[in-house]
Amino acid sequence: MLAEKLLLHVLIILLPIFLYNLVFENRQIRNKGILFGLLQGLSVFLCLFFSFESYGLYWDLRYVPLVLAFLYGGPLAGGIVLIAYMAARTFIGGDALLFGYISGVIASIIPALFVDKFWTYMPSKRIKIAVLIGIWPAVGMCGILLAFIFFQGSSGIEIGTIMTNIFLFGVIQVLAIGCAAYLHESAIERQLMRKEILRAEKLNTLGELAASIAHEVRNPLTVVKGFLQLMQKQASGTNKYYFSLVLSELGRAESIINDYLNFAKPQFEKVEKVNLMDLVLEVYLLLKPLGLKEGSRVENQLEHGAFVVTDRNQLKQAFVNIIKNAIEATSEGGTVQIKLEIKGNQAIIIVADTGKGMNEEQLARIGTLFYTTKDKGTGLGTSVSLKIIEAIGGDISYKSEPDLGTVVTVTLPIDKE
Ligand code: ADP
Ligand code: MG
Repeated sequence: MLAEKLLLHVLIILLPIFLYNLVFENRQIRNKGILFGLLQGLSVFLCLFFSFESYGLYWDLRYVPLVLAFLYGGPLAGGIVLIAYMAARTFIGGDALLFGYISGVIASIIPALFVDKFWTYMPSKRIKIAVLIGIWPAVGMCGILLAFIFFQGSSGIEIGTIMTNIFLFGVIQVLAIGCAAYLHESAIERQLMRKEILRAEKLNTLGELAASIAHEVRNPLTVVKGFLQLMQKQASGTNKYYFSLVLSELGRAESIINDYLNFAKPQFEKVEKVNLMDLVLEVYLLLKPLGLKEGSRVENQLEHGAFVVTDRNQLKQAFVNIIKNAIEATSEGGTVQIKLEIKGNQAIIIVADTGKGMNEEQLARIGTLFYTTKDKGTGLGTSVSLKIIEAIGGDISYKSEPDLGTVVTVTLPIDKE
């Protein structure tokens, strides 16, 4: 049966991927394009070698490695596969040799045109594009086969079977490309993930180092601050002004260090049962004046009855950072709404502002250490909040529209009473 033979060809198509994953994936390879071309070249050779002859036609998936090599390996790999194809075709020979050459070149045209553009798409789109491009040689091949039959002429009964086979052939070819593209993409993703893990490990060590330095710097800073405060009391005239400047900047440095240390390792010193409503109310009262100063209204709507077992100062810090950001984002006349709801065994805290909002790119970066858009910002607040809420086993999500505002949703697992 033709379909059976084509399934053998599907296996041949997948062979380079298996070989690559098995042998080369964990190695450092200098010239990936050439290796890719050679593997796909092998596959094209096998395709032609095991080509299945039926109704006076050759059936195989020879164009699949060609398309894949151009798309995933680049022009060099594509070229190698095209040469392998030509060589194999010459080796097989036959009357239609020239015809075979031409169809190989035609099949390469569209994938070759896409070589550069292909990598500008996201992985899932790349698979779709590979499938779409795969339709080109499939349709071309089907056209050629149809034309061949038309000129040769066949008996009426055979035409029906041949047509079915040609259709089936086209479908299998496209499916094979989709399948291979999917496997390639997952291999690429695995590689990226491995790199990312290595990078994260390095960053981790670096982070620990930075934390210990920050810790060492904090102590002398405290001493300096203490003595400066003493000296400020005796100072007069402009000196007094300078002292207050120096002290406020020192305070800033200290709070950055504290934030960073808190991020590196949240200290849950005193773990107790915390009434969530009381805690959010405290934060509200603490930050309401800031809202007034900025000209925005801070409102609350809090439900009673949720308790969280944690360090209350840490949780408070997490909410302060989030609500402070909301207030800082809103301009005069805006509102910041704080809502606490209980749903099942979860508390949902929503902080919604009518501020400047964030676009998708900014949203994607929020929570990364040191990301800030403010002149005097540290880019630590959100990271610290995230870390604390994660440590409690909660979750935080951001929704935002530029110029409309931001909604921050924090979910926390709770004890009810
Ligand atoms: P910082 O407040 O020091 O800039 P954060 O980590 O607290 O650092 O916030 C990082 C950035 O995220 C802010 O600079 C701001 O651009 C953005 N951001 C956070 N919350 C909001 C919000 N509610 N609305 C608009 N932008 C926000
Ligand atoms: Mg902030």
